[in-house]
Amino acid sequence: MKKLWRCSVCGYKMEGAEAPEKCPKCGASHDQFVALSDEEAKKVYDSYVTNDIHMEIVTLVEKILHLAREGEEINLDPGCLHIFKKAQEDGYVLKEMCKAEIAGHISKGKW
Ligand SMILES: [Zn+2]
Repeated sequence: MKKLWRCSVCGYKMEGAEAPEKCPKCGASHDQFVALSDEEAKKVYDSYVTNDIHMEIVTLVEKILHLAREGEEINLDPGCLHIFKKAQEDGYVLKEMCKAEIAGHISKGKW
């Protein structure tokens, strides 16, 4: 039966019937791996999709911030400037919220 294993040295996780011979990330030996409980593994699996969504949102917001800065530099008129400044302010908040949420997931083993 497959289990979810975590390297106790670096946190790398992988599925398998047995722990790997060594950690692909840090090279720690087989005995450094611990099997996650079903409850811990469920947290990890449940968070895979939402963590990816948060990371995608951060990437998209970076594009918005770049465009908004470009638009601000052009400074066509007050209406444009207002939108570009608001996009930067709101984008920053959204990006930091997503990053904080991911950090919270990591601290609770949902990674
Ligand atoms: Zn490792």
